[in-house]
Amino acid sequence: MEIIKDFIPENRKNRPGIPMNPKWITIHDTANTRTGADAFAHAEYLKGDEAESKPVSWHFSVDGGSIAKDGTVKPPQIYQHLPTDEIGWHAGDGHGAGNMASIGVEICENIDGDRARAEALAAELVAWLCKQYNIPVLNVVQHSNWAKKDCPRVLRNRPGGWDNFIAQVKMNMEKTEPPEWKVVGLKWLEENGFITPGRWKAEDQLDMGTLGVILSRLTITGKRGEK
Ligand SMILES: [Zn+2]
Repeated sequence: MEIIKDFIPENRKNRPGIPMNPKWITIHDTANTRTGADAFAHAEYLKGDEAESKPVSWHFSVDGGSIAKDGTVKPPQIYQHLPTDEIGWHAGDGHGAGNMASIGVEICENIDGDRARAEALAAELVAWLCKQYNIPVLNVVQHSNWAKKDCPRVLRNRPGGWDNFIAQVKMNMEKTEPPEWKVVGLKWLEENGFITPGRWKAEDQLDMGTLGVILSRLTITGKRGEK
């Protein structure tokens, strides 16, 4: 998961530099369905005069990638607009916990984008943030938790939308990366003909039958059996 850091310049009104210790994650939908209104476009918007004059800002924008009319393919992207230890103005609750203690994540709605992929990538990001800052999934909330606003409107208005998003966050949190030594070991087994490349994961359990097959290849391949 790559995060493109493209911060709002310091000293802009929508980057007040108020320190934050994040305890919550607030989910928004951009409510901007225009073609091209992707994460990059929102990074540009937040650096501009309109966002400063409101002032409005948040930490991350996530899109689902797009295919332009000329066939140009844009992969799904995450842009970060503010450091996670600074507040943004996104929750509409003034100096309440929404603005003062939550990381704001906007999911893009541009019609040329793949919304399902945007939600999937946002769930991946949110899971990573939860782990990074020790934030419980219960503290992943909708914008409407802080202010009277129908946001995130797409997730709220699709039956099961919010529950599905939270389920995706939980799924991502349960995924654990295998340690490097296991990855190296698996690669060695693949490269030396002991197992079929791509069939096994580094964290897979080994049973006696499979062990036997692998050991039998010591002599069949001749690779390890040769003196
Ligand atoms: Zn919102």
